[in-house]
Order: sequence, then C-alpha cells, then structure tokens
Amino acid sequence: MALDVIFEISELRRIVSGWKSDGMKVAFVPTMGALHEGHLSLVTLAKTENARVVVSVFVNPLQFGPSEDFARYPRTLKEDIEKLKTVDADVVFAPSATEMYPTGFQTTIHNNGLATVLCGKVRPTHFDGMLTVVAKLLNVVNPNYALFGKKDYQQWRIVERMVRDLGMLVEIRGCEIIREADGLAMSSRNRFLPPEDRAQAHLIYEGLTATKSAWIEGERSSEALRAIFSVIVSRSPKMIIQYSEIVDCFSLLPAAEKVGNVSLVMIVAVLFGDVRLIDNLEF
Ligand code: AMP
Repeated sequence: MALDVIFEISELRRIVSGWKSDGMKVAFVPTMGALHEGHLSLVTLAKTENARVVVSVFVNPLQFGPSEDFARYPRTLKEDIEKLKTVDADVVFAPSATEMYPTGFQTTIHNNGLATVLCGKVRPTHFDGMLTVVAKLLNVVNPNYALFGKKDYQQWRIVERMVRDLGMLVEIRGCEIIREADGLAMSSRNRFLPPEDRAQAHLIYEGLTATKSAWIEGERSSEALRAIFSVIVSRSPKMIIQYSEIVDCFSLLPAAEKVGNVSLVMIVAVLFGDVRLIDNLEF
C-alpha cells in the first residue's frame, strides 16, 4: 500500500475508521520526526503483526521548557516520509500546531507521581506536555495499540500509567532500544554532537553495562554502583552526569533488589555541552 501523508484530524479519522470497519488492527507510533532506525524499528514491529500503522510526526511545543531546544529540534518531514516508505508504514500524520492546539485550547494532563522523578526533576513541565499530546493523539488516531521505545523509559511508564488511570482503551507496548554500532542509543539529538564528542559518546553505554555487571556480581551499594558509571563517563572531560539512578522499573523509585517480577533499571541523563542525552539499561 502507498504511504498517505495526512495533515488534518478529520481526514485521519476517516481513514482509520475505514480500516476498523474492514476488521484491521491499527497500531500507532507517535514521534517528533527526524526519524532513525530506532523509530523505524517500532513501525517494523507493528507491521509484523499485520496491523495498519499510523506514524505521527509532530514536534510538540508543550513538552519543551522555555530554555530547551524546541526551535532547533530537527524538522525533516520529506526525509521522514521516504524512510517510512521503506518500512511500509501506512499513514504519516503530520498536523500543524494549530490543528493540534487551536485557539482556545486549555485542557492538559497532569501526572503527579512518576513524572516528578528522574527527568521530571530537571524538566518539570516536560511530561505533562508529553502526556497532553499523547492523550490527544490517542483520541484522534484511536489505535488498538501504541508503541513506545524504552529509550525514553520514564515516558513509556508514564504513558502506561495514564492509560490505566484514565481507562483509555489502548494497549501500550514498550520496545527495545536500538543502538549505534558503538552502543550509543540512537536519538534525533545525536546529530548535534560535534565529531569529537560523538567519538566519546559510547562511554554512556559502556558505563551502564559495567554497572550492570557489577550488580550481577553482587554489588548492591547504590553509591558504589553510580561511582562505576561516573568513573567511566568521566573519561570524557566534557560529559556531565545530570543524574544516574538505579530504580524499580514500575515505580521508578530507587531500589537495590529485584522483588517478584520487578526488574531494576539504571536510568541516566548526561550533558555534552548543550546536548542532553538519556539512556538506560534494565537489570
Ligand atoms: P521521539 O521522536 O524522540 O519522540 O521518539 C518517538 C518514539 O521513538 C518514542 O517512543 C521513543 O522512545 C522511540 N525511540 C527513540 N529512539 C529510539 C531508539 N534508539 N530505540 C528504540 N526506540 C526509540
């Protein structure tokens, strides 16, 4: 099937309800564009289940703080469309800001728990902005399921929480992180790294894997574990650790041991000059 590029909510609704009345399952992949293999892996996964796939491309102003990189966030819709054709996506939904937030828009979503830790401490308005756009997109697309990358681990958990808390009729799936050959998690922001910084960025994943190895070998002190990460990352003098925490994968609160089916996850944010990178590894 050819890829349809849709800009209006009414048109998208018409297409999706057509699919549904034909008995098709609909999968949804929300993105901010500047697509890479990480995004495309979500589409590929959805296609293997024989679903129709809608990918949204929308740089959501609500989830950027006043001093963050909204203005310079890459906008590459033409290239994104070409990439989405290669993985057989069915629809790209690329609304304008006024289509999503017309004059008079005044309703937002607020999370008072998971959104207050980790990235939420340094980006206090980010997750509410993200939830508001995801809630609207889920209402507009009305998919059977939506795919989120574990790259944004906290985002994935907060969206799961919203869907449960508000009784939304959609299944949320978390998908594995796609990495560059040297281990750096793929991200639309990696393009902002100057070559000399890019060459050092593998230290983040190296730090995460070394910390996980120490945990497997029995180290349980969170100070000692975080020091292992810090020593490796500080091999690059330019990298500043904004936070590094080992947390329960559901509550996102600090934890040292697995209890029942709860995994641990080490989540980190690292500043490289004005480029902020996040990554994580499940234990
Ligand atoms: P973004 O465009 O950065 O908002 O990301 C859109 C979706 O793609 C989110 O669910 C991300 O978690 C996911 N994603 C981004 N990078 C990766 C990656 N390297 N591996 C897997 N999923 C990713």
